[in-house]
Amino acid sequence: MTNNIYDLTRKTDDVVIVGGGLAGLFCALKLAPRPVTLISAAPLGEGASSAWAQGGIAASVAEGDSAEAHAADTIAVGGGIVDEEIALGLAREAGARIDDLLHYGVPFDRDLEGRLAVGREAAHSARRIVHVRGDMAGKAIIAALTEAVRKTPSIRVIEGFVAESLMTEDGAVTGLQLRNAHDATARPVIIASRAVVLATGGIGHLYAVTTNPQEASGLGLAIAARAGAVIADPEFVQFHPTAIMVGRDPAPLATEALRGEGATLINNLGERFMQKAHPLAELAPRDIVARGVFAEIAAGRGAFLDAREALGTRFAEKFPTVYASCFAAGLDPATQPIPIAPAAHYHMGGIAVDAHGRSSLKGLWAGGEVSSTGAHGANRLASNSLLEAVVFAARIAEDIAGQEIEAAASPPSVLVVPRNGALPTLAEKKLRAMMSSHVGVIRDGDRLAEAVRSFAAIEHDAGSIALRNMATTALLVAAAAWSRRESRGAHYRSDYPAEKPLLAHRTMTTLAAAHEIAETLEIREPRTTQPMIA
Ligand SMILES: Cc1cc2nc3c(=O)[nH]c(=O)nc-3n(C[C@H](O)[C@H](O)[C@H](O)COP(=O)(O)OP(=O)(O)OC[C@H]3O[C@@H](n4cnc5c(N)ncnc54)[C@H](O)[C@@H]3O)c2cc1C
Repeated sequence: MTNNIYDLTRKTDDVVIVGGGLAGLFCALKLAPRPVTLISAAPLGEGASSAWAQGGIAASVAEGDSAEAHAADTIAVGGGIVDEEIALGLAREAGARIDDLLHYGVPFDRDLEGRLAVGREAAHSARRIVHVRGDMAGKAIIAALTEAVRKTPSIRVIEGFVAESLMTEDGAVTGLQLRNAHDATARPVIIASRAVVLATGGIGHLYAVTTNPQEASGLGLAIAARAGAVIADPEFVQFHPTAIMVGRDPAPLATEALRGEGATLINNLGERFMQKAHPLAELAPRDIVARGVFAEIAAGRGAFLDAREALGTRFAEKFPTVYASCFAAGLDPATQPIPIAPAAHYHMGGIAVDAHGRSSLKGLWAGGEVSSTGAHGANRLASNSLLEAVVFAARIAEDIAGQEIEAAASPPSVLVVPRNGALPTLAEKKLRAMMSSHVGVIRDGDRLAEAVRSFAAIEHDAGSIALRNMATTALLVAAAAWSRRESRGAHYRSDYPAEKPLLAHRTMTTLAAAHEIAETLEIREPRTTQPMIA
């Protein structure tokens, strides 16, 4: 049945890990020498947010810092719904995981005395970001782990396959349905396993403007939800305020350090709009700046990052990466304002997991951005996501190592009739545009309801499994955002701008609950327009 170079139908008691980013690679290495099959949609090193991380990993390894202080900072930015025990555990295990990464060959920067060099980032009360060659952390970490994985004989790597369905029997996982990533019309293949770890990353690519790679389109979340797994906090999406709008997808980032150097935010009338929004103006917290930028664009006045006065001719030398992104688009940031927009950057929500990374389905674990551990609450502290990926990947490996995993006798039969086509680009484009306009930085009940109805219709009528899975995740985000009638952390509702103490709890939901919301909204106000299927 296979039409590829891999034998995907062999009888196996392998642990199957889906995702070749930090969470997936680290979990596979930690499980060695136990046999593991690691599946990645893109070749290792590509198509993973991990490789793009510029800051680094938060770890309280410097003298005078402590895990308690790190946890307190994490809790302070999380909008009142961080799981405090999880946050403390994360901070306490950071040092050991950094040691592991050093052991796998990650060349973290050191100071003159040979100690790990630590940098400072927004909302951290101490210098605690370990990094590599300034802003190369992600690339260096993924390069070292990829090399270690390729040298580990117990890890079988399958690249270029997308997991599109999870198979279950009586609430326990029995296998995965995969499809060749380069041929959407190819027949699906089944891989049998009773221990599946989803490490598929985030959902940024569901939005028209994002910093995430194309592979981060919420497929892992969708397949878990469709198999009945509980999903936590899907409404909480963090937006980066200053993505550069030069027609690239994903959008390159204009680092926050530019504003630190005095660059201002202006509209097309040349007015500084953040001054009236917050006393700290351009240096206000990320959410507030993102909302200011969004509002200006929505009002038709556009938004620009203006570094002409602050940096001028020093721009290219001080910010070579940003300069190169602008230059390639024919823009000279030394003399011209840079067009910007907020971009979907990180998903706090995901597959609900416990302290071992176990989901609500037997045999299904989730780690990294696709999971929701409760560590970030309603907003993420900078550089905590790579930390969470390694801490939970190690915990998952430990949990699996302590269990007898039954061999999956034979591959279960194909779950989905292979009715499939290439991803209809028009429908995908419309879905992503609606996520940005209706489920983005500033939300309201009417537009969220419209989004819920549209995504439910796309999901129902989709002629491609990839589009259906994108719509499933979009629906979960929109339905939870519609249900949360308050503003908290990264979730802002213009019709409910205040935080409500009674709602200071995490969301635990399912796809069935999202469908119920969609049905209720459909009855209240039936759709008059055609669903947006190409
Ligand atoms: C530009 C940028 C900068 C960032 N900077 C930082 C930072 O400095 N510090 C920090 O802590 N965090 C940072 N983050 C966030 C952080 O990078 C991510 O949260 C983290 O890397 C997620 O790791 P992961 O292993 O869960 O997912 P990823 O690294 O995204 O890996 C997901 C993997 O799953 C594969 N995949 C996806 N779907 C499927 C499927 N259906 N089937 C098969 N394979 C699939 C992908 O190809 C990929 O291999 C940044 C993010 C971005 C986008």
